[in-house]
Amino acid sequence: MTNFQANRRGALAFLAGASALPLVGACANAQAAEDGSSPSGSAPAPEAVGQPMPGNVELPDTPPEKPSGDSVGYAVVGLGGDALNPLMPSISGARRSHIAALVSGNRGKCETVAKAYGVPADACYSYDNFDEIASDDRIDAVYIVLPSGLHAEYVERAFAAGKHVLCEKPMALSSTECERMIAASKAANRKLMIAYRCHFEPHNLKAMELMRDKAVGDIRLIRANQQYRMGPTTPKKNWRVDRSLAGYGPLEDYGIYGLQSALYLSGEMPATIAARMVQPTGDSRFAEIASSVSTLIKFPSGAMAELYTSYDTRSANRGVVYGTSGVLEMDPATGYGGHQYTLRTDGVQQIEAGDPSVQFAAQFDHLADAIRDGADIRTPGEMGLRDVRLMEAIFKSALTDSVIHINPDGTIRS
Ligand code: NDP
Repeated sequence: MTNFQANRRGALAFLAGASALPLVGACANAQAAEDGSSPSGSAPAPEAVGQPMPGNVELPDTPPEKPSGDSVGYAVVGLGGDALNPLMPSISGARRSHIAALVSGNRGKCETVAKAYGVPADACYSYDNFDEIASDDRIDAVYIVLPSGLHAEYVERAFAAGKHVLCEKPMALSSTECERMIAASKAANRKLMIAYRCHFEPHNLKAMELMRDKAVGDIRLIRANQQYRMGPTTPKKNWRVDRSLAGYGPLEDYGIYGLQSALYLSGEMPATIAARMVQPTGDSRFAEIASSVSTLIKFPSGAMAELYTSYDTRSANRGVVYGTSGVLEMDPATGYGGHQYTLRTDGVQQIEAGDPSVQFAAQFDHLADAIRDGADIRTPGEMGLRDVRLMEAIFKSALTDSVIHINPDGTIRS
């Protein structure tokens, strides 16, 4: 394995080798990594391409009922694992949201899914005629569930079509794209929400409350692990290992949950960030991306966070908060279900916060409430931008072997 810091030549070779591709924010090439300047390079933009029906998808036997009243109609863009597995089935639990249209590059899959969800065949759009959603009044909002490198383009096109947007995490692969997306939302006077489902999951919400109430005393250390071992693959076969669609890989896709939880549990923004990345050689999974990213954050209070994420380590989705008078263990911490949260102080308390599966429908309804009633959005585009900025700082630290100082808005202090 080549640790980028252990082998600086390796790090620069990695950057140079990848410089033909659109990279993440400040780290597009070695010079950008050194001085934090904007990425250069003119690689072709990634394209939306239809895919086969994912395995293990169960379609509903009968279409979910549309809620009565002013339910918000969503167009789901990208019928992959996330959309078809936890998200679309959850719509039956929504009180103010329904699926009104689908957008897919695979017409046959689109029609099959449309039939199962009671979506009219004329509400099946492709990436080519996506912009025609502008004149479809059945669609109020667009839910972007595409590979991460395509989020920015489709979010901007959705705003140009006059629709509101729910966008999957990470918001985009660079802060420049995020800024453009926010500007497009403002110009169109339409809402932009990032699908950070943990902000709607009862155990994570309870943990935030416990930390605010100092249930473990003053926080000293937050540890988060988001990792699994990916099977053999290549960038051609799997967008998750393709730099143009995935960025540096595991952090943007999975480790972002650990980064997010460190912020919402501590209630602080990082003061400094120091990080390491590993890219094994001779492994087609990691020809373009990192296999593992490790980050140490220091917060202004003196609390610290140790975050580890990987596509090459046995599975874990775990968080621990160590405080001056207690410990909160979360295992699994941020998954779809099965949350086990234990608070250890003078005694041991299992946290029973409620059904984790409500997190999916709650996201749809949260944006629906914002659209219909003007309610504030808990996870706005600005939060997505903040997190992408912090990930850029993490990559810059790893690639330049330096400690990065952070401003309160997540930008790098020069
Ligand atoms: P998948 O690979 O399962 O599906 C992605 C879908 O995007 C494809 O099925 C395809 O849909 C469409 N697509 C368009 N262009 C491409 C392309 N060039 N390569 C591959 N697919 C393409 O990905 P996921 O559903 O797992 O992830 C999608 C997004 O959701 C990502 O941003 C990811 O970070 C996020 N995610 C969020 C999770 C959460 O818990 N909130 C969990 C998992 C992912 P079609 O065939 O219909 O055109």
